[in-house]
Amino acid sequence: MEETNKKLVTVLVPAYNEQDVLHLLYSRLKTIMDEQTNYDFELLFINDGSKDDTLKIIQDLRITDNRVCYVNLSRNYGKETAMMAGFDYAKGDCVIIIDADLQDPPELIPQMLEYWEQGYDDVYAKRRSRKGETFLKKFTSKMYYKVLQSMTNIEIQKDTGDFRLLDRRCVEALKLIRESQRCTKGLFSWIGYNKKEILFDRDPRAAGQTKWNYGKLINLSIDGLTSFTTAPLRWAAVIGLLTSFAGFIYMLVVIFKTIFYGVDVPGYSSTLVVILFLGGIQLIFLGIIGEYLGRAFYETKNRPLYFVDKYNEEKITNVRR
Ligand code: UDP
Ligand code: MG
Repeated sequence: MEETNKKLVTVLVPAYNEQDVLHLLYSRLKTIMDEQTNYDFELLFINDGSKDDTLKIIQDLRITDNRVCYVNLSRNYGKETAMMAGFDYAKGDCVIIIDADLQDPPELIPQMLEYWEQGYDDVYAKRRSRKGETFLKKFTSKMYYKVLQSMTNIEIQKDTGDFRLLDRRCVEALKLIRESQRCTKGLFSWIGYNKKEILFDRDPRAAGQTKWNYGKLINLSIDGLTSFTTAPLRWAAVIGLLTSFAGFIYMLVVIFKTIFYGVDVPGYSSTLVVILFLGGIQLIFLGIIGEYLGRAFYETKNRPLYFVDKYNEEKITNVRR
């Protein structure tokens, strides 16, 4: 990359087994990058331990286009961590995160850059529609946002993925947050700064397979909840208080009945019901506490988030950043 005094824009692409779309993605990005003559571009791929030819394709692209850079992670870490690696290695004055599968149209980039020039720090693309996604996925994602929003005071952006432009200072802010179970979506809101939304229609995947399944989504949701709020712990306490209050009232009733009407033996099934019900609640709340304890366990280990195998041609020996 030759040095100019133009601003440098990093396009950050996390890629995991994306061999079928990379050429298409590159050609669409190339058109945009060539048009935007006011900027220099860095096209930074994060190869997240792909098992197909993704890395090979990226390396080939780099031979013909020196704007292409890549970080090859030592294994598959998941998109959240891949993005973090991208933030660490991005050189740009701003970073645009985009999915490899072309679900995020690169054609929005010029508009993002315009808003950036107007002084916005975080220009995010909000989906007006989601083609090619099942009703169930849309519904669950909607519910998830609802629940998450109702429990936190920071504003969570609805129908917004990771497709966005971040100013250098947002990137630096995100780099300081090195939690191992990341919920980047919430972090974008958490860091604050000047936000601007753009609406777009989300396309179906251009090729290849989604890496998400419901198991992963459920995990992500629980991570999202537990990393941004301790509200479930509060519920546990409140429900515990309510049930013990009810128990206390019932105790008074029982004492009263025993004194005035004498002891009676029936009540086996009601006792069982109460024991099962309370036992169930206790287990659920133990589980909730366990979730938080588990998070604390991971964070206190304070492991590096990822290891890098290669940055461009250079073999990396990892040191703590
Ligand atoms: N991705 C990644 N690591 C993973 C899974 C996904 O880097 O472990 C990348 C993937 O290559 C793509 C983006 O994250 O660029 C979004 O993945 P996908 O399209 O599978 O998710 P969806 O759009 O279905 O939410
Ligand atoms: Mg996708």
